[in-house]
Amino acid sequence: MRDSAGTIVKWFGACADIEDQKHNQQILEQQIKERTEELADANTRLQQEMVERDYARRELDEQNERMLQDLTARSQRATLLAKMGELLQSCVSKDEVFAAALGFAPKIFPTSRGAVGLLNAGRNLVEVAGQWQDCQLPVPVFEPSSCWALRTGHPHLVVAGDTTAPCAHASGVQNTYLCIPILAQGEALGILHFQATDQAPTLADAELSFKTTFAGQVGLSLANIRLREALRTQSIKDPLTGLYNRRYLTEMLEREIRRAVRAEQPLGILMLDLDHFKKFNDTYGHDAGDTVLREAASFLTKSIRVEDMVCRFGGEEFVIILPTADLNASHARAERIRSKLRELTVLHQGQSLGTITVSVGVAVLPHHGTSPQKLLEAADAALYSAKREGRDRVVDAALPSVPDAELTHVDIAKS
Ligand code: GH3
Ligand code: MG
Ligand code: MG
Repeated sequence: MRDSAGTIVKWFGACADIEDQKHNQQILEQQIKERTEELADANTRLQQEMVERDYARRELDEQNERMLQDLTARSQRATLLAKMGELLQSCVSKDEVFAAALGFAPKIFPTSRGAVGLLNAGRNLVEVAGQWQDCQLPVPVFEPSSCWALRTGHPHLVVAGDTTAPCAHASGVQNTYLCIPILAQGEALGILHFQATDQAPTLADAELSFKTTFAGQVGLSLANIRLREALRTQSIKDPLTGLYNRRYLTEMLEREIRRAVRAEQPLGILMLDLDHFKKFNDTYGHDAGDTVLREAASFLTKSIRVEDMVCRFGGEEFVIILPTADLNASHARAERIRSKLRELTVLHQGQSLGTITVSVGVAVLPHHGTSPQKLLEAADAALYSAKREGRDRVVDAALPSVPDAELTHVDIAKS
């Protein structure tokens, strides 16, 4: 309290214990501090988590993208494989099949190098028929035994640096490589060889199935071609001698006659029949007779030019078509065959079967006819004369009383 002059004359005071209050406040402040720190921590963690999640999401996106690319590539490959399969089905020769395989391989397997090797007819050598992506094999020709795939009949993978069982034909190849046999009806016809590149150093497992499918398709189409060829051969060739059969000869004769008429060229027909053939069967047995037929067939095949054609017409009867040969030339060829056949020595079980002689009838287009039937009849009649006159000789057909030859070439062509 102050007096009138303003001087303090008395003091009043109130005293309270705020100890608890202060304490509580400190606790509260501590709690707030702690919560703030916790919140800051949580915030940092949350931020970190967000970064991680973002990273994971990006990773996932990339994975998805890769999978999508992989799937797209696979489906493109599957489409290409299907396309190749379709094409292979229509191939008519081995060469066509391999050309198609070589064309499709780099499209279906763009990340690996490769080559196609083919077994030769003697089956003792593999020849590299073609390659893609500049595939380097040390040798262009190698023995089948130098490839494990050909030895085992199964795909053979050699991982780079593995020296357990490398293929000798790929010696010096540093990268991973894979050989797959091309099989047709279980028989190896060649190999597909794949090499990894520095850009794509592995041959992924997933690719193996594509590659074996690829080789399988090639093998299947080769098997088809072989079956078709076998069927065709069976239908046109005589199994004992390997010569064309009568049915095929008749077909070919018709075609050759048409061609000769169009070109206004002659065409010779020789009909041959082995003399006293029965005696080979009777003396030495049926097998010896078969041997005589096979040897005579092989002799005849060697005696003709590539454009000529020889067939087994019946038991021991043969027909030879000589395009462009006139009567003189045909007769000379027949005479040569007759005299040379006499010199042939045929052995059966180490025993010589003696001299083989043949009688030949000769007919020529257009003199003796302009149809297969007329020409064959004329040649047959001449052959009959040769037999009657004592065998081992060549007789030309007599001219017909009303020769087909009187028809002009133009008339024939029109007919
Ligand atoms: P020719 O001089 O008059 O022609 O007398 P040939 O003995 O040759 O004639 P023939 O027609 O009397 O006898 C032909 C024989 O050929 C009769 C037949 O048993 C035989 N033959 C037919 N096809 C075959 C065959 O595929 N193998 C064997 N070993 N013999 C066959
Ligand atoms: Mg005979
Ligand atoms: Mg006969």
